Amino acid sequence: MAPRKFFVGGNWKCNGTGEDVKKIVTVLNEAEVPSEDVVEVVVSPPYVFLAQVKGLLRLDFAVAAQNCWVRKGGAFTGEISAEMLVNLQVPWVILGHSERRALLGESNDFVADKVAYALSQGLKVIACIGETLEQRESGTTMDVVAAQTKAIAEKISDWTNVVLAYEPVWAIGTGKVATPAQAQEVHDGLRKWLHSNVSPAVAESTRIIYGGSVNGANSKELAAQPDVDGFLVGGASLKPEFVDIIKAAT
Ligand code: PEP
Repeated sequence: MAPRKFFVGGNWKCNGTGEDVKKIVTVLNEAEVPSEDVVEVVVSPPYVFLAQVKGLLRLDFAVAAQNCWVRKGGAFTGEISAEMLVNLQVPWVILGHSERRALLGESNDFVADKVAYALSQGLKVIACIGETLEQRESGTTMDVVAAQTKAIAEKISDWTNVVLAYEPVWAIGTGKVATPAQAQEVHDGLRKWLHSNVSPAVAESTRIIYGGSVNGANSKELAAQPDVDGFLVGGASLKPEFVDIIKAAT
C-alpha cells in the first residue's frame, strides 16, 4: 500500500483582508518547499477570499472552504453549499471544526451528515475531532474521539477522500500544544479504532493529522511520530512560519 502522504492544512479562520491575503499568498508562492509528491498543502481562507486565493496561489497548493451546508443548497440564508464549492473548483472543505461544534452547536451527527454530503458531491474533507480539557482530565479522550469518528463512519463507506484531523480543543489557539507522545497516543488509538471498526485498509491509508498550537518550532518533533501524518494549523498558517511547518514533512 502507498505510504500516507504528509498533509499540511492552513486554517485562516475568520481573519484577514484582501491585502493580507495577497501578502500571505506571496509568501507561500515564493517558498521553497518539498515537492507535492512528498507533502500535500491546502490553505483555507474565508469563503469571500476563496476565489481570489485560488486565482493567485501556486498550482501545487490547493484551497479548502472552512465549512459547507449539510445538504443540497436552497433556502438556507447565509449558507454555502457543497455544490457551489464544486462549481468554484474548490476541492477541499474543513468540517466539524471545534469552534463550530462549540459555538454553533454542531453535533456529531450533524457533522457526519455534512461529511457524507460533501463527499457525495465530490469534495475532499478534512474532518475535525477532539476532546475538551474537561474530557481529557476525566480520562474520556478516546471515548470522545471514537464517538465523533463513529458518527462519521456510520454515514460513509469510502474514506479515500477523508483526512481526519485530531485537534484537542484545549490546544487550539491556546499556545498549549499536545506533546508528541500525547498526539501519538491518540492517533494510534484512532488508527486502531479504524482498524477494528472500519477496515485494516482504511486504518492504514487514512491520514490522521494533528492540530492545536502547531508552530515552526514544535512541528518537527510532532511530525516524527509514526501516526502523525501532518497538521491542521490555525494561527501559524497566517505567518511565514507556515513554510517551516510544511518543511517538517521531510
Ligand atoms: C485550528 O484552528 O484548527 C488550529 C489548530 O488552530 P491553532 O493552530 O491556532 O491552535
